[in-house]
Amino acid sequence: MTTWIPMEKKCAVCGNTHTYHVLASTNSFGAPDLDLRPAPMQRETMEGWLEECPECGYIAKDIRERPENRTVFQEERYLTADNIPFESALAARFYKYHLYCESIGDVKGDFYALLHSAWACDDADDIENARRMRREAVRKIDAIIKEHPENETNTLLMKADILRRSGEFDQVIALYEGMHFEEPLLDQIRMFQIERAKAHDDGCYTVAEVTGQE
Ligand SMILES: [Zn+2]
Repeated sequence: MTTWIPMEKKCAVCGNTHTYHVLASTNSFGAPDLDLRPAPMQRETMEGWLEECPECGYIAKDIRERPENRTVFQEERYLTADNIPFESALAARFYKYHLYCESIGDVKGDFYALLHSAWACDDADDIENARRMRREAVRKIDAIIKEHPENETNTLLMKADILRRSGEFDQVIALYEGMHFEEPLLDQIRMFQIERAKAHDDGCYTVAEVTGQE
């Protein structure tokens, strides 16, 4: 069960106080998707991953914390979310957070904001913008691998899924056919991605669907 607690918080940018709903607890049921998108129960919590001030539009994990860059929130591209016609306000919120992270050089925050925007688009059946978010996210992922080489295999598998789900089938085949992962499950996922890419399938799959276990 997902539990929310109402909490009064003062915005660090404009100083206005509003009630935000903070996540108290959740249970995740089911297997995550191949890009680590959580199962539906936990996905409902995405509304609480970022807070958005209704007065000034400031977006942060905690609205009380001062931003490293204040000017980005007044920029046209931030205010309009680059004029992207998102079907979901949540997707637009993650996209704006990506613009902020990009402006302060937070590579990891930037990448995940784009990926989370794609997930919110998935849930809103906003297929075109889900693809667009994944294409933008995948351009950042090599920098993540460089920064966190200890997670290279997992990040590479996430990259394979993002590429395939944005329709870049040839890239998946070209990049992953020559690879091999030590861990049998991870190598099974790699081969699954190649097989699905060859079938020009950009669909969503869970880890359980790859292994055949529920
Ligand atoms: Zn504010």
